Amino acid sequence: MKTMPELPEVETVRTALEAVVTGQKVEKLHLRRPDLRWPFPAGLAERVSGQIMGRPQRRGKYILLPAGETGSLLLHLGMSGAVRICETPADSGLSDLGPHDHVIMQLASQHSWIFCDPRRFGHLDWVPAGEETRHWLLREMGVEPLSNRFSAALLQQLMAGRKSPVKTALLDQRLIAGLGNIYVSEALFRAGISPRRKAASIGPQRAQRLASAIRQVLLEAIEQGGTSLRDHRQPNGEIGYFVQKLKVYGKKDAPCPACATPIRMLRQSSRSGFYCPSCQR
Ligand SMILES: [Zn+2]
Repeated sequence: MKTMPELPEVETVRTALEAVVTGQKVEKLHLRRPDLRWPFPAGLAERVSGQIMGRPQRRGKYILLPAGETGSLLLHLGMSGAVRICETPADSGLSDLGPHDHVIMQLASQHSWIFCDPRRFGHLDWVPAGEETRHWLLREMGVEPLSNRFSAALLQQLMAGRKSPVKTALLDQRLIAGLGNIYVSEALFRAGISPRRKAASIGPQRAQRLASAIRQVLLEAIEQGGTSLRDHRQPNGEIGYFVQKLKVYGKKDAPCPACATPIRMLRQSSRSGFYCPSCQR
């Protein structure tokens, strides 16, 4: 099942890129079309070519790739975008590219990373140094769920006064960064909280269970992604689309792993979620 990348998938891509780009000189950045979801900034390829790459960072579902002193590339994988890494001997001329391989960063180390995005919902932008928190795609982003700032108390505070269902609030990137349909469904299951429950009704105990469930499902998935990198087990060499160990997501009508009640599918804000009507209240 290939699903939209969420925080753990993006973190897995970041980890893979870190090993390849950090401290390496960019031979050339190839942009094979003028845009993805939005146009690439003017002169982007020239700006990045020849620069020494820094250590990639993640913010929500975005990856920041420092390129020289003046700024960073900002990469979003979109709905189905994927990164793969390959060796590029100087004389190969990158001859094996597919029609959806839109961005290629060729490094002097003779490695390249390629961004393949058939649906072109991905994005590549430039963020000047020091403006990382002011970029229009990043400035309203909420707390990182794996940061020290994230806690049960903060989660309860974020949910307080919200009339929307808890699931909808958890998907709001302005509140918490990086969560999507899959890990929200899994975290709510683990916390025993119904996706229909009003966000405002999350009290201290549920907040405690939910905050720890969110961290757990993300950390376990990141571990799973790391294993897929070490074992070279990525379908088509596409990094980040590892096999997830999911308990409820995508399991409509399957028995709940805890109580055997059939798992239900629920559409909320036009997105499908999955839950156990008996375990989750
Ligand atoms: Zn159950």
